[in-house]
Amino acid sequence: MHKGMTAFLRSMASEKTKGMTAFLHATVLDGTKEMKRLEDATVTVEDGIIMSVEEGGCPTKGARRVNLSGKYLLPGLINLHCHLAGDGRPQKIDSSTAELMQSQMENDMARFIMKKMVADCAKTALLSGITTIRTVGGTMDIEKPGDERKVLMTEEEIAVATRTAHELGYKVSAHVQSADGIFASLKNGVDTIEHGASLNEKLVALFKERNAALISTITPVAIMACLPNELSGLPKLYSESCELYMREIIKGFRRAVAEEIPIGLGLDDGSPYVTHYCMWRELDFFTRYIGVKPEFALWCATGQNAKIAGIGDVTGTIERGKAADFLIVGDDPLADFSRLGAPCMVVARGEIYKRPKWKRYKEIDDMVDNVKKYDARFVAGGSGT
Ligand SMILES: [Zn+2]
Repeated sequence: MHKGMTAFLRSMASEKTKGMTAFLHATVLDGTKEMKRLEDATVTVEDGIIMSVEEGGCPTKGARRVNLSGKYLLPGLINLHCHLAGDGRPQKIDSSTAELMQSQMENDMARFIMKKMVADCAKTALLSGITTIRTVGGTMDIEKPGDERKVLMTEEEIAVATRTAHELGYKVSAHVQSADGIFASLKNGVDTIEHGASLNEKLVALFKERNAALISTITPVAIMACLPNELSGLPKLYSESCELYMREIIKGFRRAVAEEIPIGLGLDDGSPYVTHYCMWRELDFFTRYIGVKPEFALWCATGQNAKIAGIGDVTGTIERGKAADFLIVGDDPLADFSRLGAPCMVVARGEIYKRPKWKRYKEIDDMVDNVKKYDARFVAGGSGT
């Protein structure tokens, strides 16, 4: 994943940093669990690596200087659950989608177009401040609402798949939305459970025993459960099923937080009305519905996500020796996560993207802004919970 992303970055227009660059006078949020805040900090970068992080001015002789006075510098966001084959505009999904994708990928021209589309989606994510993604496939194999709760692989199949992946040095994630699915997955070696469900005693114990992580993707569920059908244009069947599922995952994640099960955040972008540039919404919704502090949500999306993906020694925090992956915003993101959605600058492996701009879908952004008008029943500490 990291290698691929680096190659991809090289193909994009950006400002290459030669020699040492010093980012001066920023308030740094460091991406650790404590989410340490350093005032008037200096971060120096060379060859894509953070060389030093110090509070107050530090000697930066010979370095190119970038003045970040009044701004916040934090680790680039990590999205652990991304579907690049789709831009968030709703598509009709039916049982023939997988076959259609298959046949399209057999054709050179279609493959070229698909590659370009996926690259554009990744570029959008990067410019919006997501410096690391983990993609989790691009086709749906469910035919109707409710099918997503079924366990579609046998225990033996899961065991063979995870054993083979682990032998090759990969981690394994599984889209799982039921207690039975979580049990079968964890028991047979899956490392991260995507989406999740409510957790019983047995599952909590299994998560701990296996040191497995639970990945929240609450954004698409919140959108589908909260927006009235006449506004979203989505079938009633979907919103009814999402209403129930939303209650279940809220229960599951609140319990996971209390039990200190590792939690990562993913956006599930590519789902209906989930664009590649709204990772800030996942942090916002997660905080709002699960009832955690903003610092906790930001840690999940940075330092903790990196650790879960097995790249905690490479990225995720603002520390000496880590990749220079960060985003810079105009004001404190912990007071309002939407500020993450409008970065002044993104730095990925030391390359600087100033005042990044990308194609936004205004009608989708406006529609999703409405979720909070209809979500009172789900809000932590609110009347409905
Ligand atoms: Zn997914």
